[in-house]
Amino acid sequence: MGTIKFTISHKRKDCIGCGHCALVAPHTWTMNHEDGLSDLKNACAKGDDYMVADADIDVRKDNELAESSCPVNIIRLGK
Ligand code: SF4
Repeated sequence: MGTIKFTISHKRKDCIGCGHCALVAPHTWTMNHEDGLSDLKNACAKGDDYMVADADIDVRKDNELAESSCPVNIIRLGK
């Protein structure tokens, strides 16, 4: 049986680079030193505006915190 996963999406173009997601969920997020915005690790582009990734259930709680505390509300968790 494989590890349970859930999806995360990031509307990166609206990120303001506050760094909160990388602070509370460092296994999933990192700050990009080129443009100062956050990167969702192992993500693929979905359309022009979104990056999406599958993450292990172990990091769900941390990412719920990232989702609820992102000041511009651009992190969304799926099932
Ligand atoms: S918490 Fe939101 S605005 Fe702040 S760096 Fe992460 S995605 Fe960008």
